[in-house]
Amino acid sequence: MPENTCGARKPGRENGRHRIPCIRRTGHQTAHRDGLGQEWPQQEASVDHQNDARAVDPARSAARAQWEAQLAADEAELLRAEEWHAISRRLDRCHAAQRAGDNSTYLRDRVARLEALQACLLGSVESLAA
Ligand SMILES: [Zn+2]
Repeated sequence: MPENTCGARKPGRENGRHRIPCIRRTGHQTAHRDGLGQEWPQQEASVDHQNDARAVDPARSAARAQWEAQLAADEAELLRAEEWHAISRRLDRCHAAQRAGDNSTYLRDRVARLEALQACLLGSVESLAA
C-alpha cells in the first residue's frame, strides 16, 4: 500500500470478506473509494462516538448487576434471619417441653433436626462473610 493513499477500510463486515481499503489520497475530504469503485462516507468520528457509548454501557450494567446482586443478598439475608428466628422459636418450645419432662424420642429428633437447620443457616452466613 503506497504511503500517500488513505487506506481507510469500510466499517462493518462484508460477508466475511476482507474489507478493501480506500485508494484515495491521504487526507481526502470526499467519500472513501475502494479499488472496485465502491464508495462510503467518511464517518470515523461517528463510529468513535458509537464506541464511546458502548464503552460506557458495560460499566453502567456492571454497576446495576452489582446493585441487583446486593439486593438479592440483602433479601436472602433477611429470609435467613426470619428462618433463624422461626427455628429458634420452635427450638425454645421443644426445650420448654423437655424441661417440663417430655423426653420422647420424637421431641429429641425434632430438637436435633432444628439444631441441624440452624447449623446450616449459620454455615451459609459464615460462608457469605468469608
Ligand atoms: Zn479514504
